This record gives sequence, structure tokens and C-alpha cells, in this order.
Amino acid sequence: MGRYFKRKDSYTPLNNLTETEKLNMNEENKMSRRQVVAGLGAAIAAATVSPALAAAGTTNTQVDGPAKISDPTKIYPKPPFKSQPQPWPGLQSKMDPVPDCGETSYKGSGRLTGRKALITGGDSGMGRAAAIAYAREGADVAINYYPTEEQDAQEVIALIKKEGRKAIAIPGDLRSEDFCKQLVQKAISGLGGLDIIVNNAGRQQSVNSITDVTTEEFDATMKTNVYAPFWIIREALPHLPPGSAIIGTTSEQAYDPSPDLYAYAQTKAATMNYVKSLAKQLGPKGIRVNGVAPGPVWTALQISGGAQPEKQQMFGSWTMLARPGQPAELASIYVQLAASDASFATGQIYGASGGVGQP
Ligand code: NAD
Ligand code: MG
Repeated sequence: MGRYFKRKDSYTPLNNLTETEKLNMNEENKMSRRQVVAGLGAAIAAATVSPALAAAGTTNTQVDGPAKISDPTKIYPKPPFKSQPQPWPGLQSKMDPVPDCGETSYKGSGRLTGRKALITGGDSGMGRAAAIAYAREGADVAINYYPTEEQDAQEVIALIKKEGRKAIAIPGDLRSEDFCKQLVQKAISGLGGLDIIVNNAGRQQSVNSITDVTTEEFDATMKTNVYAPFWIIREALPHLPPGSAIIGTTSEQAYDPSPDLYAYAQTKAATMNYVKSLAKQLGPKGIRVNGVAPGPVWTALQISGGAQPEKQQMFGSWTMLARPGQPAELASIYVQLAASDASFATGQIYGASGGVGQP
């Protein structure tokens, strides 16, 4: 039986196709392969690929090598961790163990080819994992970070450049409205446009009693976590084309706040909430807005004042995997929410919390 191509509502033998139809077919084939490789584990893909596609010979279901399967309870470090306080905002390169942001593991498959992303807090933790993954998926990336984090940031810049993508470093303090405006303008001029914004930077300082929360600390937390995303999105919006994606990093704290995170937890509830209101406002413009809600993840935020010393040492022991997450384990979520094939996902919060917390 020969190969057939589906015209609007009939099937045509391949050798009767017009040149345009042949080109379209090649594009569809590439798309099918990309979606299968990107969206499913290789072993699952081999098992579940649609018989129709397989029969038409449009999808390569042959996967070489052993099945890629790993036990999530065994692949990453478990507590206890050694005590390692650092002054805010901390450097992840000085942590033990150093957080895994996918530096040696993340493999791209062209899901963000030609996209232009700005990621705040892109030097370390989840932002760094997103920056590395985005570059490997084919995006140009601008990262923002606090000036004292230059060392972590330069590692990320080098990793992005290694993929042959544009890497723009924009240090500065997000608590300043003027800086947030400059950040957006510098990202747009450096990247030649903008279509992904990841508002990921965050301030978390653990304080046991509300009576010890200073006005300065409360204000700094609000400025970093609530005002900065507002200033950045407002400045960027006139420049975002339809198809753009905005992603906020919220937290399980939005839903189940810890007693020592009075200021922080409410900013994460605000993040979850702005994702949902902006998704409604910007949906008609073709701009999607989503959030990621991590549970406990091993990052510099936690050892630079984010958690009490005892909690740092046993960090993540209470999850169902008996360990904290690593930023690399969330990278694919940031990719998924930015990618054009997630076109119906807006106003959503995707969680990754090791079986505890919400959503
Ligand atoms: P991280 O310390 O690696 O990243 C946070 C980044 O925020 C810093 O690297 C810094 O660049 C940036 N930042 C903070 N204040 C800033 C300021 N004033 N100006 C410029 N940059 C500033 O830690 P992370 O855990 O990867 O944090 C990323 C996001 O994840 C944060 O929004 C955090 O609230 C959220 N989160 C973390 C956890 C966790 O357990 N680590 C859990 C839920 C949510
Ligand atoms: Mg950092």
C-alpha cells in the first residue's frame, strides 16, 4: 500500500501531491516527531504512538538504547545537609551539594526555537534551570539577578552562549521601579524583541514572629515578589506579540503557608492570583499567563535566610520522596508553559512538590 496525504477531507496518493502539499507534509512530519520526543518519555512514546501515524510512516517509533527510567527517591541528595548559612542572596556555587540546574543533563529538542525570553533570578535555582533549558530548546535568553550574584550569573551566561544562543546579563535591584523599566527595555534591545517573561526572582526571609517582621523587610518582600512582576509586565506588554507567554513562580506557600513566612507566603498567594486575573485579561490578546508552584527545592534562597537552621538541615525530609527537589526537576515545566504547543494552557498553576502541598 502506498503512502497517502490527507487533503481537507480526502486522502491523496503521495505522488499526486502539489509542491506546497509536499512541503506541508514535511512540516507535519517534523512536528509529529518533535511532539512525540518532547512531550512523552521515549519508552512511553514507543508504546503509545497512534497506529494511524505509524501506518502512514510519519513517526519514527524506534528508540535506541535502554529505557530511560529512574527511581525519584534515589537520584538526588537527601537530608541531613550540613549547616551552611550564607548572607542574602547567597551563591549557589558555594552550596554543598551544589543545586542541580540541569547543567549536564537537560537535552533540548527545538521546542522554543527563535523565542526571546527574559528570566528574573536567572543566575541560580529555578530561574537558572529555566535559562539553561530555554537556551537548549533554541531560545535567546536575558537574565536578571542581584549584582552580588555575578559569579553564578556568569556561569549561566556561558552555558547559554555554548548553545549558540544570545545571552544578555542584566544585573540590578528589582525593588526599584526605574530599574524594572530599564530591565525590560534592555532585554528587548539585547534580544531584538521579547515573547517569554519568567517572573521568577523572589525574596523569602524566615521570621518566627510577626512582631519581629520589620517594615523594611515586609516592604522588600512585597517590592521583590509583588511589585517587580507588575512593573515588568506593565512595561513589556506593548512589546509582546500574540503567542507570548508570561510565567510566574508562585509556591505551595500560596495555599498552605508556614507560620514563619508571614510576609513571603502572602506574596505567593498574590502571584497565584495575578496569574489567574491576567490570564483572563490577556487571553483575548493571545498572551498566555501561567504559574509554577514548587514545593521545597534545594536553592540558595533557603540557606540565605529563607528557612530556620534546623529546617535547612532536614530540608525536604517531609516530602513523599524524603528529599528536596532540585531545580532541574522543574525545568521541563517552565519549558512546557512557554512552548507554543501548550496553546490552551492559560491561568494554570503547575505544581512540583514531591507529593505534599498544593496545587
Ligand atoms: P534562588 O535564590 O536561587 O533564586 C532567587 C533569585 O531571586 C536570586 O537568585 C536573585 O537573583 C533574585 N532576587 C531576589 N531579590 C532580588 C532583587 N531585589 N533584585 C534582583 N534579583 C533578586 O532561589 P529559588 O528557590 O530558585 O527561587 C526562585 C523562585 O522560586 C522564587 O520566586 C521563590 O520564591 C520560588 N520558590 C522557591 C522554593 C524553594 O523551596 N526553593 C519553593 C517555592 C517557590
Ligand atoms: Mg541567586
